[in-house]
Formats: sequence, structure tokens, C-alpha cells
Amino acid sequence: MDVCVIGVGYVGLVTAACLAHAGHSVIGVDDDREKIELLQGGKLPIYEPFLNELIAQGVGEGRLRFTESVAEGVRPSTVVFICVGTPPLENGEADLSAIEDVVRRIAEVTEGRKVIVEKSTVPVQTGVWIEKTLNPFGRGAGGRFVVASNPEFLREGSGVEDFLHPDRIVIGVEHHEEEQVLRALYDPIIRGTFPCPVHQPCSPRREVPFLVTDIASAELIKHASNSFLAVKISYINLIADLCERVGADVEKVAEGMGLDRRIGRAFLDAGIGFGGFCLPKDVQAFVRIGEKHGVDLRLLKEVERINEERVDVVIRKLRDHLSVLRGKVIAVLGLSFKPNTDDIRFAPALEIIRRLLIEEAKVKTYDPKAMPRVRKILGSVAFCADPYEALDGADAAVIATEWEEFRSLDLRRVKERMRQPVIIDGRNILDPRVMESLGIEYSSMGR
Ligand code: NAD
Repeated sequence: MDVCVIGVGYVGLVTAACLAHAGHSVIGVDDDREKIELLQGGKLPIYEPFLNELIAQGVGEGRLRFTESVAEGVRPSTVVFICVGTPPLENGEADLSAIEDVVRRIAEVTEGRKVIVEKSTVPVQTGVWIEKTLNPFGRGAGGRFVVASNPEFLREGSGVEDFLHPDRIVIGVEHHEEEQVLRALYDPIIRGTFPCPVHQPCSPRREVPFLVTDIASAELIKHASNSFLAVKISYINLIADLCERVGADVEKVAEGMGLDRRIGRAFLDAGIGFGGFCLPKDVQAFVRIGEKHGVDLRLLKEVERINEERVDVVIRKLRDHLSVLRGKVIAVLGLSFKPNTDDIRFAPALEIIRRLLIEEAKVKTYDPKAMPRVRKILGSVAFCADPYEALDGADAAVIATEWEEFRSLDLRRVKERMRQPVIIDGRNILDPRVMESLGIEYSSMGR
């Protein structure tokens, strides 16, 4: 099938590469010239495991190319995915200006019939609004457009795997025609009929559930899912605080809770809270959606508040160990909002660093992938070549991202390098007993 993907960021690029891998002919479009030039030159603007290989393969086999021109992408395509950003406005609502811009441009250049798919995360009823925007060109008037919703659930850091082996594919449609087109498009993924780039050898795959709903329900599924995940994280973080007060271990509590199939263990990891381009903005947007439609989603406001206070917990723990932060050297290990990505949007590590700089502490940092992005926005921080350089002469360290390489630190070397061996483990990745045996002052979250 001929497919156009507009907006080749974290979601669009994975979507384009994976659909090409599944056998489709894909054109990726973006208005960021630098990004398109990088992609045309065979380079990646982001880090995401397996993406490099898939893009090289797709381009090499002639099934994937990139352009700045919406017309060039849209005209030959049967299906057009909108994957542009929907960042939060000041008041927390989703900013739909990029969506609107893209929709208008699609309308201007389209010839022939297209299925326009909203894959960006959008407030419920955006599909109706897109239909209206396209109305003069729409089904009633010459029938050039049909609109569908297809929310994306991939996680950065495992985006390719999640796209090719999803828990479910959800589509929201108003007519059988769109359903048939999208079912055919996703058929190789539903049935797993392509060589798997992630798991080799690939175990037999189960058929992926393909859920067809109306457009509003599909839109709601995305916001409701992300908000629910945020609830789980904030909930376990509250439990972590309680565990610390009463001498319990949050990991044991999470294990005991998670064994209950009604609850499940995922997203019950206590820590410094959620970040990234999805949960924080989607929770905010969902609260505004509730307000707009007269439903009080204040439960989610609490979830946000609890999440924001996780940074206070880290600062308090540092104070407990160091008393005064002014002039102290603090090593922050990890900058991306989660491991295996270079994405720093709404990363808790950045908020921790900002707070430390306000306290006039000196910050040294190391991250395997995200430092180039942070360099552009934070000048007064020392960027180091490896974790040991960051820890050299530090009065304390904060582990802010659970990168694999921090799990296997040589802790004797760490202790030797630090001026004071104080570690605040914001992701519970080190073993408290080992730390105690080494004489490292160690504080984690709820253990
Ligand atoms: P992103 O910022 O990485 O990518 C958006 C891309 O759209 C950028 O490359 C930008 O240059 C391009 N763009 C913006 N305006 C444009 C325009 N008018 N014309 C052409 N291109 C334009 O964002 P992302 O993380 O890929 O997220 C995209 C959407 O997917 C958001 O709605 C987000 O909530 C949703 N989502 C994100 C994730 C995730 O993990 N990042 C997961 C699921 C859903």
C-alpha cells in the first residue's frame, strides 16, 4: 500500500520505518528541513534501538523515502498518517496548531481518495473537527477524504518492538471502508508475516488484537490509557513514601500487589516520577478535556501533584545527607526521561538539575545518549565522558535514569572517586545491602 507519514519524530519515524519493513511503500514528510536532510543523508535525528537498521533497509530496498513536500508525500498515497506533535499549551490543553496546519495542507494538495489517520495523541472529538476542516473537500463533496483515528501506544526506547509487536491495534472509524483499508495495512503486523528485526530467532507470534471502535472511543482509549498508567506510577510513589516511614520495602509491596492479575506488576516501579512527551502532557490535557465536557477529573490533578513532588523528595534526601547544598558538587547520572532514548522532554533529571542550580550546587552529569540535547539548553553544567568522571570529586550522586550501564557500575571505583560516598538512587537500581557492605551512604525510593 502507498502510505504517507507526516511528522517524522519519535512516533512518525518508527511508524514509517516499520510500515516499510512490513512491505508498504512509505514517504515520510516533515517541515523540519534539518531533519529531512539528515534522513536523506542516511543519518538519524533521534536515537531509538533498531531504527537505524530498519530505515537503512527500507531506503535501500526503495520502500522508504523522505521529503519536505506534503504534496509529494500525499499525492501518491492511499493512507496518510498525521504524526505531528501535540505539545501542551500554557493551560495544559493540547496545542493542535500543527495538526490544523497539516490538515489544511493535505486538503490543498490532494487528488484522489485518501484515508486520513490521526495517530498523534489528540483530545476526543478532534476527528470530528478534522472532518469539518476537510469538509469542503470531504465525502459529501466529491468524497475525497475519510478520517480515522489510530492512537499509538509505542514506548520510546522500545518503539520498533512495540510497533511491530503491539499489545493491540486500535482504530476508530465511522465507515467500513476505512476499517478495511487499515486492516489490510496492518495485516502483516496482525499476523506477523515478516522477518522480525528485534527477536532473532523469532518465536511464533500470536495474532495481534485489532480493536475497531468509533472515532471518539479510539481517541479516548489513548488518553484514558496513559492517564491510568500515570495513576499507577503516582500511586506506587505514595506507597514508597509510606514504606519509608514504616520500614517496609516498596519492591516487595509492588511484587505482592502485581501478582494479582487484576492489578499487574507493570508501572509499579517507585522512583522520581514519570516524564517524557506522553504521560505529563496527556494527563494535563485529559484534565482539560474533562473540564470542557463538565466532568471533574481531579483524581488526575492529584496524580500530577504527586509526580511533581518527586523532585522535592530527591532534594530533601540530598539535604538529609549533605545539610547544605550550596557549593556542593552533585553528579546527576542519566538525563533522558527513561533509558534507551535520547528524549529529554519533561525529564525529571532536568527538573532536579534546575533545582540544584537554584540551590547554587555544582552539577556534573553523564548520560549515554541525551547529552547533546541537554547541552543546547543547560550551559552551567559539566558534561562528562563517563559516569566515573561525573562522580569524580562529587559530594553526592543522583541516579535519575535507569540506564543499564548504571546498574553495573564498579561501586568500589565509585566510592574511591567521590569526595563523599552518598548516592540517591532515584530508580531503585542498586542493591541496598551491597551499598551498606561497601560503606556507601545510600538512599533509594521506598526501600
Ligand atoms: P516529535 O516532536 O518527536 O515529532 C513531531 C514531528 O512533527 C517533528 O519532527 C516536527 O518537525 C513535525 N512537525 C510539526 N509540525 C509539522 C508540520 N506542520 N508539518 C510537518 N511536520 C511537522 O513528537 P512525537 O514524540 O513523535 O509525538 C508525536 C505525537 O504522537 C504526539 O501527539 C504524541 O503525544 C504522540 N505519541 C508520542 C509517543 C512517544 O513516545 N513519543 C507515543 C505515543 C503517541
